[in-house]
Amino acid sequence: MSGTMSRRTFLGSAALAAAAVTRCAAAQSSPRVVVIGGGFGGATCARELGQKGLAVVLVEPEPTYTACPFSNAVIAGLRPIVAQQFKLGMPGPDGVNIVRQLAVQVDPWNRRVGLADGSSIDYDRLVLSPGIDIRFDALPGYDEDASLVLPHAWKAGEQTVLLQRQLEAMDDGGTVIIAAPSNPFRCPPGPYERASLIAHYLKMNKPRSKLLILDAKDSFSKQRLFQDAWRELYPSMIEWVPLSSGGKVIEVEPKSKTLVTDFDRHTGDVVNVIPPQRAGKIAQAAGVADRSGWCPIDPVTFESRLQPNVHVIGDACIAGGMPKSAFSANAQAKVCAAAVASLLRGETPAAPKLINTCYSLVAPDYGISVAGVYRPVDGVLTDVEEAGGTSPQNAPPSFREQEATYAEAWFKTITSEVFG
Ligand code: FAD
Repeated sequence: MSGTMSRRTFLGSAALAAAAVTRCAAAQSSPRVVVIGGGFGGATCARELGQKGLAVVLVEPEPTYTACPFSNAVIAGLRPIVAQQFKLGMPGPDGVNIVRQLAVQVDPWNRRVGLADGSSIDYDRLVLSPGIDIRFDALPGYDEDASLVLPHAWKAGEQTVLLQRQLEAMDDGGTVIIAAPSNPFRCPPGPYERASLIAHYLKMNKPRSKLLILDAKDSFSKQRLFQDAWRELYPSMIEWVPLSSGGKVIEVEPKSKTLVTDFDRHTGDVVNVIPPQRAGKIAQAAGVADRSGWCPIDPVTFESRLQPNVHVIGDACIAGGMPKSAFSANAQAKVCAAAVASLLRGETPAAPKLINTCYSLVAPDYGISVAGVYRPVDGVLTDVEEAGGTSPQNAPPSFREQEATYAEAWFKTITSEVFG
């Protein structure tokens, strides 16, 4: 093993967890991998690396992780927010040391991560899985204060509950508006699953109400399946306005709950703005995000194309045809952990194949899905033709019901694997 791979000095702080890492550092001589972010990507990767016998430090400030998948069901009043919440253990799974801090700096030259309390941790390889940042600078009128009136609910937690309460407080006959962003963004089918479940809530509780989707694009994931289901389950309740019909929101007026498009102004009673996004802030600080705001990677190792020894997985990375999903983040984390272990042994990682499946609920007993298989082709993760697909059109209700059951089973399985 080269000198640069050996354990390097840990510049500790008074923080207890960090002190534990320092003690651990003195006892171990294997290379250290630091993982930033304890969500679907980061927690999976840390666990996999730990299982491979590597010294792993997981940096995550939040003691409780609130999962986005199924958070649309919380908004529709179908499940409590606590069903979305998971605790990361201390000490972490599989010998992973968890440091409860926000990472604020990365010095790729000295391979050092700076933490919010002023301490730092050295690494041999770094994995970033910080998820997304909402771009509060991208849509005129939509800043952090505006999100307290017009929630985005695109990071699960308080925002999810806020949107749910606003729906509950709305009178029958009201108008709900969802503003959907252009690609790429976290969870491509998410806005349309949200529209479906909100329509379900309105149908059951406020049937004279309407739902308008103002979209910054002309097509979306599982579009035919969603639109067929809307005609069947929520006739004349949902209206979708695509980009080409003036659906793109160009300005927000929070006080009057008004969204301005190229051709029109739309005022709602409950307005959900899903704004443009980019890789989590630490990715910008580490110098691994390009001008798009997302992080280019080598699809075999998930190593950054901009900084050596730094890997980026999950929503933050540019994963070619792979959508930004929890399923993808989990799959990428496993490939990345195997690649990091190979690289630290001085071996060449094998080219991977990755799978993604995204379930969406159109109603509590009506599920649809899309699946894909991806492999690196000319440096880009590319769809393997004929290897994936969507749920069939015109399937019987029993089939849709089964898919809703599979969705729930998938969520239970992935969350117990990642956070259990
Ligand atoms: P995250 O899960 O967001 O984790 C990021 C973690 O990093 C967080 O815990 C955060 O606290 C931490 N962090 C950030 N910055 C720092 C820092 N500087 N220092 C330390 N820690 C930091 N996906 C599916 O597969 N199926 C679904 O059905 C599905 N439904 C969805 C529905 C909605 C409404 C939404 C919004 C998303 C949905 N998703 C779904 C997408 C899924 O939630 C994301 O793709 C997934 O969470 C990405 O994982 P990640 O690890 O990249 O980021």
